[in-house]
Amino acid sequence: MEQKLCYMAEEHLGKTLDACTNQEIYGLLLQIIKEEAKKKESMQGKRKLYYISAEFLIGKLLSNNLINLKLYDEVKTVLEKYGKNLSEIEEVEMEPSLGNGGLGRLAACFLDSIATLGLNGDGIGLNYHYGLFQQKFENHLQKEVPNPWLSEQSWLTKTDVTYPISFGNLTVQSRMYDIDVTGYENRTNKLHLFDIETIDESIVEDGIHFNKEDIEHNLTLFLYPDDSDEQGRLLRIYQQYFMVSNGARLILDECVARGSNLHDLHEYAAIQINDTHPTMVIPELIRLLTEKGIDMDEAIEIVTKTCAYTNHTILSEALEKWPIHYLKKVVPQLVPIIEILDDKVRRKFEDSSVYIIDKSDVVHMAHIDIHYGYSVNGVAALHTEILKNNELNNFYRIYPEKFNNKTNGITFRRWLMHCNHALTDFITDKIGDGFKKDASELEKLLAYKEDETVLSDLLKIKTECKKALVSYLKQTQGIELWENGIFDIQIKRLHEYKRQQMNALYVIYKYLEIKSGKIPTTPINVIFGAKAAPAYTIAKDIIHLILCLQELIQKDPEVHPYLNVVMVENYNVTLAEKLIPACDLSEQISLASKEASGTGNMKFMLNGAVTLGTMDGANVEIADLVGRENIYIFGESSQEVIDHYNKGDYHPNWYYENDEEVRKLIDFIVSEPMLAIGQEENLRRLHHELIHKDWFMTLLDLKDYMKKKEEAYADYENRMEWAKKMLTNIAKAGFFSSDRTIAQYNEEIWKLS
Ligand SMILES: *Cc1c(COP(=O)(O)O)cnc(C)c1O
Repeated sequence: MEQKLCYMAEEHLGKTLDACTNQEIYGLLLQIIKEEAKKKESMQGKRKLYYISAEFLIGKLLSNNLINLKLYDEVKTVLEKYGKNLSEIEEVEMEPSLGNGGLGRLAACFLDSIATLGLNGDGIGLNYHYGLFQQKFENHLQKEVPNPWLSEQSWLTKTDVTYPISFGNLTVQSRMYDIDVTGYENRTNKLHLFDIETIDESIVEDGIHFNKEDIEHNLTLFLYPDDSDEQGRLLRIYQQYFMVSNGARLILDECVARGSNLHDLHEYAAIQINDTHPTMVIPELIRLLTEKGIDMDEAIEIVTKTCAYTNHTILSEALEKWPIHYLKKVVPQLVPIIEILDDKVRRKFEDSSVYIIDKSDVVHMAHIDIHYGYSVNGVAALHTEILKNNELNNFYRIYPEKFNNKTNGITFRRWLMHCNHALTDFITDKIGDGFKKDASELEKLLAYKEDETVLSDLLKIKTECKKALVSYLKQTQGIELWENGIFDIQIKRLHEYKRQQMNALYVIYKYLEIKSGKIPTTPINVIFGAKAAPAYTIAKDIIHLILCLQELIQKDPEVHPYLNVVMVENYNVTLAEKLIPACDLSEQISLASKEASGTGNMKFMLNGAVTLGTMDGANVEIADLVGRENIYIFGESSQEVIDHYNKGDYHPNWYYENDEEVRKLIDFIVSEPMLAIGQEENLRRLHHELIHKDWFMTLLDLKDYMKKKEEAYADYENRMEWAKKMLTNIAKAGFFSSDRTIAQYNEEIWKLS
């Protein structure tokens, strides 16, 4: 490696390695990694998986690839010899902006595990130039600006695969770009990202605004363009069709090249549809097969044997429905096929709730997936049960055999080995490195549960991670944190169901407590990170509230030494990698039944944080694994919440009127000191929302939450007991390896040979 790097520096840059800039070394490493990855490409396996997703939140790739190719230690040592620091070189890399939140991060973890298990499977998505917006804070408000992450030196490789893609009113020419997906000491797969050459980044004006009708210039500019108007919604359909039409053509071309006669397509391909965004791949494949001479009924049967659907949410606003006249405008070629699919359903079933096209001429995308796919899976045990018994019960009764659960997972290469070297070394020292390939071996750590030396070493590692985070946030965002304090962290997309507002109300409680003289034993850092969808007003108001509290507390010398509230700007994978290892208390406080799984909860647990959460999503499985003494559970159950919705008996106003303490906290939002810092309009709107609407029931669990959190903070003081909880959480995290999840997908859904 030393020879190679030195030679390349000389050959490509005409200098010695020690004279290269970090940017130049990054370029050299990029090239070396691409060469090494290529050696591990493989055609093995007849049936191939295609994971289609609107998002792939892959994070930076340099370290991840070095780890997976087993080059990390060697490269680090060589660079050190020449006075270079690998983590400084990592800073040169821009984080790809190809995802939004959990769903996109899941897709990235899955690609890693698919390659790591040696399975033949590629990702298919879009190459968004500006990705999801970049978040800035101005006047305590979120501002969105483009996130141009593409650069000269990039993981993307331009291919010569291109297709003409026709819409109702225009045809564009696509181009495929590939990113290598390296498995941990295993094969290399691909992430295929489609784009068009006519994209014009200069059409973006002020913030992230642009002409949404200029499809030839805007098609792959942004992920999830604002859909609060009709042009925005149409653009999303253009994007989705562009993605799946390219994907479908690629899949058919590859399968034919590998020997398929198309009648046997399902023997060559399994297509996993990640949420409803890629649903149109079903009618598009049917269309392409019939174009090639296969008759309609057979085409439908072939596609049904090939496609499988993952449901990620029961939030009704996230289950996509498109008015048929939108589809007639953008993809008229699919409309007759969707009508045939609907007609077949109508002939078979009387229950109109399972129709594809409803009586208002709206197309329910998930219904296409369920009728015309061979598998429907939820993403955590509780979520799948809710799908079967509530949300999708009418479908479950028709197709019980299609429904199955695949509890989400995370890749331990990124969320342990890469982001927490100290903890990885500590674990390796105790139980060997078998856990890197078989995560269930982490349970061996339980043997050290009563070993005070080991426990205090674990606490020392946590302190180191806190120090690293403190200096990183100081340097990059000018944020100050109390290094010796508790790190209480809530990082995830901003949504009312995730209840950041409940955490903010706790902050107000704590602020008032300290004001009245009740000083916490250990200083508390409450850390938030979250982007809000640009058109989601209340979510942005919640960010405003948190940023105002941050300022109020920072400027209050009576409170600030004991309570520190910060919201990091532009929360992304890179920040998650720094925040998670430093966390003591992991906030997973969604309204029960609403968080399908969560994966942040798993990352925190693996890094020795203790969860404060509701019995929601995968929290339920975490609680089962670690036992109630190693997790802080509060709040009403999913069944109780579902009953409240059915009866319509939750009235926030009741809590506001009858509970003086709750009223005090809520009214603080529009108090003098807050109005002096923030915008009256935003604060009043949020105040009103919490009292009169509060669709996600903040006040239902608020008091119970406050009580549990106090209990957790008090327990933190007994350091040895806390360290035991940390150790147990790490030891039990093996179940949440995405290697386990992917092995189950393969055994039960994909059946790749
Ligand atoms: C893991 C992850 C998420 C998902 O977090 P949840 O708490 O499960 O919602 C979102 N964003 C980023 C950057 C992540 O790494």
